[in-house]
Amino acid sequence: MTAPTPTLTLNNGVAMPILGLGVFQSPPAETTAAVETAIADGYRSIDTAASYDNEREVGEAIRASGIDRGELFITTKLWFSDYGHDEALVGFQGCLRRLGLDYVDLFLLHQPVPTDFDATVAAYKAIEAMLSEGRARAIGVSNFSERHLGNLMERTEVVPAVNQVELHPFFTQRPLREFHAQHGITTEAWSPLGGIHVYRPADPNAVLNALEHPSVTSIAEKHGKTPAQVVLRWHIEHGVVAILKSVKPHRIRENIDVFDFELTADEVAAIDALDTGVRGGPDPETLNMTTYPKTVEN
Ligand code: NDP
Repeated sequence: MTAPTPTLTLNNGVAMPILGLGVFQSPPAETTAAVETAIADGYRSIDTAASYDNEREVGEAIRASGIDRGELFITTKLWFSDYGHDEALVGFQGCLRRLGLDYVDLFLLHQPVPTDFDATVAAYKAIEAMLSEGRARAIGVSNFSERHLGNLMERTEVVPAVNQVELHPFFTQRPLREFHAQHGITTEAWSPLGGIHVYRPADPNAVLNALEHPSVTSIAEKHGKTPAQVVLRWHIEHGVVAILKSVKPHRIRENIDVFDFELTADEVAAIDALDTGVRGGPDPETLNMTTYPKTVEN
């Protein structure tokens, strides 16, 4: 096991580990083992969501880990089939029940729904109440643009602690990171290794794999580290929280072994230069129950 993961401090004073394990697309049958392995290897932050259909398995791993609940940082997310005030309260309860927890450390709205932003705002107001009741230690959002954040902040009380967004060497989100810094919002990267371009490539004949890019592999060779470790270190140098996914024990271990080296400013800049400005995931402007009709059963 490695030393405890360094933390950064969210805008409400809560400490959040800078690295965590995500479980999107981790099959339920493999999720418990992956999370147990991660916790045994020193991970303290786990990221799931109502829509991943594996909150129960995350909860099982937490209970099996033998680690005090207070040492763990558990994030889950409300899916937009539960947007609206009362719906969000039911959705939040569903998350806690499936996880088997009485509070979460971070609760996020999974997506903005630009075509029904009133329901998005109403859901956020409901989770503001969960924050004040201590059932979430911090609240935030995911996949929000500057405009979505601005509209939300105009209509609500609590500035989101976190915005979890697609962010990797090919999509570095610099303007959004600057907006976050101005407003005290922590940037959290999903697909931090650039996995989205590999498992869902825009062009299957021209897969963009950040872990095979010469700029990354040459830095990895210099440090005697792996490409994944270099990319994760790049997030850390930027002060970005990274939530990586793996179900393979050797990779779970590899991915947290990143606290014994640093990148130089030139190395960070070389990876920054890979930005294409093009996201691999869906455009958050376009998501709603018509374009993505998934419903979470509570
Ligand atoms: P990642 O960038 O973490 O890539 C994951 C992929 O990389 C998997 O295929 C994994 O395979 C592979 N991988 C992991 N470690 C290594 C390694 N060391 N070397 C080579 N390959 C490796 O992307 P994800 O899109 O999975 O995102 C991570 C997390 O972010 C999710 O689990 C979820 O928690 C969150 N997320 C949030 C979203 C949102 O809308 N808020 C959207 C998407 C993700 P294997 O498992 O076989 O090791």
